[in-house]
Amino acid sequence: MAAATMLAAAMLFVWWLTPSEPALAHWAAAIELLVIGILCVALRDVIPDALSIALGNGAMLAGYGLIWTGLRRFDGRPPRTQRALIAPFLFVALCQLPFFAESTAHRVILISLMIAGLNLLAIAQLRRGRLVSRPRLALLTLLTAVLAFNLARIPTVTAQVDRQDRVALFSDPAMAGFGLLALAILIFICFAMVLMVRERREMHFRSAAQRDELTGLLNRRGFMESAMGEGVAGGTMAVMLLDLDHFKLINDRFGHGAGDRVLSIFARVLRENLRHGDIVGRIGGEEFAAVLPGALLSDARLAAERVQLGLREAMTSMRFGDAGEAIQCTVSIGLAVTTLSKGEPSASHGMRLQALIAEADTVLYRAKSQGRNRIEIAPAGPVALGA
Ligand code: GH3
Ligand code: MG
Ligand code: MG
Repeated sequence: MAAATMLAAAMLFVWWLTPSEPALAHWAAAIELLVIGILCVALRDVIPDALSIALGNGAMLAGYGLIWTGLRRFDGRPPRTQRALIAPFLFVALCQLPFFAESTAHRVILISLMIAGLNLLAIAQLRRGRLVSRPRLALLTLLTAVLAFNLARIPTVTAQVDRQDRVALFSDPAMAGFGLLALAILIFICFAMVLMVRERREMHFRSAAQRDELTGLLNRRGFMESAMGEGVAGGTMAVMLLDLDHFKLINDRFGHGAGDRVLSIFARVLRENLRHGDIVGRIGGEEFAAVLPGALLSDARLAAERVQLGLREAMTSMRFGDAGEAIQCTVSIGLAVTTLSKGEPSASHGMRLQALIAEADTVLYRAKSQGRNRIEIAPAGPVALGA
């Protein structure tokens, strides 16, 4: 009992420490209610039966309901708390009817079915998300165990109730073991919930650290990390480096805000003209890069031409300065393509990528020196390792 109370307090503490996660409010309340449920069952001989049964089971049902609503909240869906409370209210109302209150079998069967139903809702919600998440998978397993226990309990109860009015499950030694098991499962459930929250926060911070705020594209670090993971399956891979031409002039003439607008527009042009699986990043002030897995030289060249055209079109609809002037902004592009062999070690793949980027950079410089607004392509052939 003391352990259960401490668990309830610990969960409130976790919620207090992380007020920005609304799902934790649901889960903290759920654990409080489940602990009240456990305490009522444990205090069956101390408090009146009617109170222990109605309050204990009602709290337990509300607790499982709130686990479900918390999961909905966690996944960004409306929580539907009222719906979760139908089962406990229905149960408490039925307890007021003598035929139900006096029949242990009726009560246990109904409560088991209700808990199983609420668990099923929670499990269905868990399955909607990313099950590669270990805490999520752990919670799913724990709730499945609770569901299985409640369904398995139904035939046992009916058989035993015929022999003795009081269910054998509640006889003292078994009761103690059952209570301990319930508590252990509850502790694991709490851990899984807290770790789900922590895992998502970590993911959020990690992805924020890899994003460029202005354009929403990957930043240099994010781009390099994502690019390193590409091409491991083998095949061709193209690298495209892009640098806006005379960008400084836009800043100088119309201010930094205008420059920022052009950068955002260019990021959109890139997203719209490259494929979904391509990795696109802003790797410097007005420098962008893309890795095109599986692209042949001809594909990469067409994509680069689309980007140039897309930028030209996007700029025609933009107006700058007080006079609403239209300006042109062009982009120079360097391209390099290589073929990766399947199963190549990731270290050599990393070096190859670096080499490819260096080649694309060299030809980008050539595009600049030869007049800008051009696409230059690195000579074909294998890229030297470590070059
Ligand atoms: P080039 O054609 O040779 O590439 O000329 P450029 O003017 O584009 O290149 P340069 O490297 O001389 O200038 C890049 C400019 O980009 C200078 C810098 O102020 C601007 N810049 C870098 N980051 C940002 C940003 O986040 N917002 C804005 N508005 N400007 C930026
Ligand atoms: Mg530039
Ligand atoms: Mg530059």
